[in-house]
Amino acid sequence: MKVLVINCGSSSLKYQLIDSESEEVLAKGLCERIGISGSMISHQSTGKDKITKEIDMPDHVVAVQLVLDSLTDKEYGVLQDLKEIDAVGHRIVHGGERFSEATLIDDDVIKAIEECNDLAPLHNPANLTGIRSIRQIMPEVPMAAVFDTAFHQTMPKKAYLYGIPYEYYEKYKVRRYGFHGTSHSYVSKRTAEILGKDYKDLKIIVCHLGNGASISAVKNGKCVDTSMGLTPLEGLIMGTRSGDLDPAILNFLCQKEDMTIGEMLNVLNKKSGVLGLSGISSDFRDLGSEASKGNERAITTLEAYYYRVAKYIGAYTAALNGVDAIAFTAGVGENNADGRKAVCEYLGYLGIEIDPDKNSIRGEETVISTPSSGVKVLVVPTNEELAIARETAALVK
Ligand code: AMP
Repeated sequence: MKVLVINCGSSSLKYQLIDSESEEVLAKGLCERIGISGSMISHQSTGKDKITKEIDMPDHVVAVQLVLDSLTDKEYGVLQDLKEIDAVGHRIVHGGERFSEATLIDDDVIKAIEECNDLAPLHNPANLTGIRSIRQIMPEVPMAAVFDTAFHQTMPKKAYLYGIPYEYYEKYKVRRYGFHGTSHSYVSKRTAEILGKDYKDLKIIVCHLGNGASISAVKNGKCVDTSMGLTPLEGLIMGTRSGDLDPAILNFLCQKEDMTIGEMLNVLNKKSGVLGLSGISSDFRDLGSEASKGNERAITTLEAYYYRVAKYIGAYTAALNGVDAIAFTAGVGENNADGRKAVCEYLGYLGIEIDPDKNSIRGEETVISTPSSGVKVLVVPTNEELAIARETAALVK
């Protein structure tokens, strides 16, 4: 089955065409600056040259049409006919409490996703635009919604409630939801497979450390806690997001800086994290190279980042009452050996020992702990698109 996986942002659209039987990526690409001047599409069919075109994309319907045109282009496409696309899988950021698993899309599901818009005002409307654009152009193709929040819906109440008046949960559903669920699910399952153990027998901590970053605690195949909250702003220090902070800081800084709450939230989402702390970059390669030259702010930023990751691992070890495996994934988790080493240095009390040779790998599935380590530590590259394609194919079959 050929599955088109779509990840629609407010001004971007990422896609992959995946053969769900061979799990091969047939083509992938990205539309950028949709609705803004200078829009571009880059497309690559496997085994062919990558093409990049600057082309007007006033809205997502035009972008989706360009994606479909690229997939069927005689020269650089992979399909003879759009009818070869058997299903479309959409990444949807927020499924609220309604969706604890992926689902086929119908009018009722679209309405339910819409009802979650105020929980993810930047993401869900954009995701819905992707659904509507495909529907407009290919009304017959079955579509599935795969939610970032779904995997975390197994969290117990004690983990997802905030210490605020309960009526806010009842009236507005203010609670922890968690994100990156597709990645946490994929990586925790893969961890069990790599270790040759039953997923249902393991306590696993997944560290998804990318530009956005979150940690989850997975017990017997179910998520029991995760670091992101009502929105992706909570938890770890991230590329540009602050992560955890005293909520009183918001009002304090608004007054000092004469900003509205909306403006300050923009600072916390887009100008904070390692970018804001270092004043250098949100990219760990830049921070690593500055730190190696002795730049104090880069060094302190990295220390604060790794310290927070280690604190969460400690907290989740308590939540799980022990841990069998810790998996690192996403851009920083997969590629940054110094970072993994720095985090694991805090974990000697768990009997963790890292093999420096194995830890020097990048982006490959590897057990990086020594055979005698008290806890297995792994690098497991995430693959959210493949996970979405799998879920979509399973629903459509
Ligand atoms: P992601 O959001 O998963 O795509 O991760 C993106 C982030 O991964 C980038 O902003 C970098 O900070 C980090 N990253 C990617 N490659 C490397 C690398 N080779 N070394 C260190 N960090 C990396």
